[in-house]
Amino acid sequence: MIKFFNTLSGKVELFSPIREGHVGLYTCGPTVYDYAHIGNFRSYIFEDLLKRYLLFLGYQVVHVMNITDIDDKTIKGAKKYGVSLSEYTVKYIDAFFQDVDTLNIIRANHYPRATEHIKEMSLMIKGLLEKGYAYEKDGSIYFDISKFPAYGKLSKIDLNQLKKGSRVESDEYEKANAVDFTLWKAKKEGEPYWETEVGTGRPGWHIECSAMSSKYLGKTFDIHCGGVDNIFPHHENEIAQSEAYTGKKFVNIWLHCHHLIVDGEKMSKSKGNYYTIKDLLAKGFNPLAIRFLLLSTHYRKQLNFTLEALEQAVSSVQRIRDFQYELLNHNFPEGENKDVLRLIKDEISRFTSGLSDDLNISVALTSTFDMIKKANILIIKNKLYQKDAERLATALNRMDEVLGVLPLKETADLSDKIKEKISFREKARADKNFQLADQIRDDLLREGIILEDTVNGVRWKHK
Ligand code: AMP
Ligand code: ZN
Repeated sequence: MIKFFNTLSGKVELFSPIREGHVGLYTCGPTVYDYAHIGNFRSYIFEDLLKRYLLFLGYQVVHVMNITDIDDKTIKGAKKYGVSLSEYTVKYIDAFFQDVDTLNIIRANHYPRATEHIKEMSLMIKGLLEKGYAYEKDGSIYFDISKFPAYGKLSKIDLNQLKKGSRVESDEYEKANAVDFTLWKAKKEGEPYWETEVGTGRPGWHIECSAMSSKYLGKTFDIHCGGVDNIFPHHENEIAQSEAYTGKKFVNIWLHCHHLIVDGEKMSKSKGNYYTIKDLLAKGFNPLAIRFLLLSTHYRKQLNFTLEALEQAVSSVQRIRDFQYELLNHNFPEGENKDVLRLIKDEISRFTSGLSDDLNISVALTSTFDMIKKANILIIKNKLYQKDAERLATALNRMDEVLGVLPLKETADLSDKIKEKISFREKARADKNFQLADQIRDDLLREGIILEDTVNGVRWKHK
């Protein structure tokens, strides 16, 4: 039984998917006019945590994330640099996927791009015109929110000040201001345009998520996510467009992640108070420590970003990795300690019940670190045996299916090669060939492996 806080009902609800064992998940993706900052990645990592937990429980998840490659900002950027829209956006799309992989985010099943779904959007707009929910003015098409009585049900926006027929052109507009929004923008000089059944021009921002989510997930699907800034107007408008068009409920559960803030303010491009993933990597931070920091605060709480907190995340991740290293490399005596089975059972069950309670990550992380702490005490007391170490390593891997902070699979697979190099270096040291030993150590460092010569022999860890 999983419970989520649904923004739509304003309550914590039991989750029950439309099709047993399957989940349709739509998450609003990046607008590719610039590099994503770690505030954006707080949202994407929360969504990754949600998805990984559903997968951990055995659900099959179809995840769709849109790429907004046309809007006011991308057009402005392309104009500024005198390049075509796609030449401008491709750089940021590539960088986005690089960051996704670096942060060990599981890729979505589909990444539909707005510019590749103009047909689907124009069809939907045509339907909305035919049903009387939309109107045309000077070649642009607007959604008439007065025709959709449920408008405001997600954001609970006050409709009393609604002035019938007041319109807005831009994609993002004043909060707390309910107005008719653009579905289609008439062709403007110097802007990209398409010729469609609803006219010559380009789509507004909101329509892409309605058209693309239904294409890949159906008219009604299970979960839709984004940051809290998406609630109004973006998600409110998505509901209006989709429900007016299909006559069916659009989404069952809406989950929204709170902002990542710096010195009390939302991290954002316009304020200039941001770090990109590359900025932090250049400072020498391990990407999975960035991941850990972004997931370790509950998604419905603001996350205050500081470099000190990131330093702490580095040591937390190192603690988990050191424990894994110990389990895999220490020579434990043959046998087993039955208490370890109970320890694993208790901590995995605490981990699961925490996450099932609206993704309570604090409980899940406490259970992970308690398991590590208690097992380490057993190791010190010589009460941990080979069988226990294997079981603990399996349990840790299981938890990491959700956390995703153990070394990436590719590097984990490299460990045989690394071990070979390490033992080669050991031999060189024993032979007093220190020049060769140092050379191997430097080679490994270039591969991201740090060697430490300790009294218990050589140890390695990821940079
Ligand atoms: P954008 O590229 O601005 O459309 O944003 C992409 C996603 O990042 C959306 O889901 C936003 O809600 C989210 N987002 C933007 N800034 C922040 C922030 N400071 N903290 C958390 N999420 C954010
Ligand atoms: Zn969206």
